[in-house]
Amino acid sequence: MQVKVLISAEEIKKRVREMGEEISRDYADKELVVVGILKGAFMFMSDLVREILVPLEVDFMATSSYGHATKTSGVVRLLKDLDTPIEGRHILIVEDIVDSGLTLAYLTQLLQPRKPASIKTAVLLDKPERRRNEFEPDYVGFTIPDEFVIGYGLDYNNKFRELPYVGYVSG
Ligand code: 5GP
Repeated sequence: MQVKVLISAEEIKKRVREMGEEISRDYADKELVVVGILKGAFMFMSDLVREILVPLEVDFMATSSYGHATKTSGVVRLLKDLDTPIEGRHILIVEDIVDSGLTLAYLTQLLQPRKPASIKTAVLLDKPERRRNEFEPDYVGFTIPDEFVIGYGLDYNNKFRELPYVGYVSG
């Protein structure tokens, strides 16, 4: 199995810095709760929060993964909820990739009744061709074609998350 580089570690670093600057401008004078979606977002989230200059807290949620499949089953299951109450707070959900859009639509709908001051989403990767709903992330690192990607937090069978770049499997 060969892995081809789609987005290098240097490109990711540069783009994550730009995203952090944009988020810092948008939330100037505010405080954030940055919510990472486990496990895929762990690397992007840890780099992104270091580039955000407003005071923030971190929390995590986990949803069911595809398991061994590379296509969504269409059903999202919550495996871990937030530890923090979010009423009146500004929430930034951080996710590795938006594909069908089902996960982030589900999570924003789940959090909305808790009355946060605002909810926005930041994703490293967006595959708009695959969308099955109207979901649009607020901050996007890279728009990519419909290819199954791995690395920088993203897995295949729970492997390859540690790669410092985003790649795809060929051969
Ligand atoms: P959605 O609910 O938008 O279809 O999918 C979101 C989740 O699907 C992501 O958090 C990720 O776990 C998984 N996913 C979607 N596309 C890919 C991909 O190309 N590679 C990997 N490793 N996971 C993906």
